[in-house]
Amino acid sequence: MEGEPDLETRAPVDLGPKCPNCGEPWLRPTNLPGRYRCVYCLHRFELTSVCPNCGEHSTIVRMSSTAILKCNHCGDSMLQPV
Ligand SMILES: [Zn+2]
Ligand SMILES: [Zn+2]
Repeated sequence: MEGEPDLETRAPVDLGPKCPNCGEPWLRPTNLPGRYRCVYCLHRFELTSVCPNCGEHSTIVRMSSTAILKCNHCGDSMLQPV
């Protein structure tokens, strides 16, 4: 991602996906499949199979990759607050 005004670029650690609630990159998978929790604001999110924005179905591939958290149709977040 470019154009991020975040000047405080820390060590190249994989910070993971950003929390839709607080914007901090502290979303972590829980032991429930498709569930994530932000360790920063402690909100919980569920990875939906249908995009809440455009209604597109998404094949949830459960990998450690973070790229699957977005709708590949419209790019909207597939995370819904639980
Ligand atoms: Zn958060
Ligand atoms: Zn979409």
